[in-house]
Amino acid sequence: MAKKATKTIFLGLCPICRKKLHEKNLAIIDKSNVTTLCCVKCLSCESSVLFTVASQEHNMVTTVGILTDVQAQDIAMLKNGAKVDYDDVLAMHVFLEKHGTS
Ligand SMILES: [Zn+2]
Repeated sequence: MAKKATKTIFLGLCPICRKKLHEKNLAIIDKSNVTTLCCVKCLSCESSVLFTVASQEHNMVTTVGILTDVQAQDIAMLKNGAKVDYDDVLAMHVFLEKHGTS
C-alpha cells in the first residue's frame, strides 16, 4: 500500500460549484486522537463543507463530508457552549417516552 507522506491535502471539489477547494480556507475545528473535524469554505460560492478525518490503524484515512452553511466560527461557538452528557440524553429519552409521537 502506498504511503502518503506529503503535507498537501487534497480537499476535492466544491459540491456546489465544482471549483477546487483550497487548503488555505481550511479550518480545523476540533481534534482528538483519532478524528479531526474540519471545515473548508469555497471561495467561489461561499458554501462550507464540514468533514471529519478519521485516522485509523494501518494509516487508513477516512473522511465523511457534510455540506453546510455553518461557518467555522459558529462551530467554535457551539463547541464552547453547553455540553450534552448522559443525563441529558436520558432526560430526553424520558421526555420522548412521555410525550412521544409514536
Ligand atoms: Zn463552491
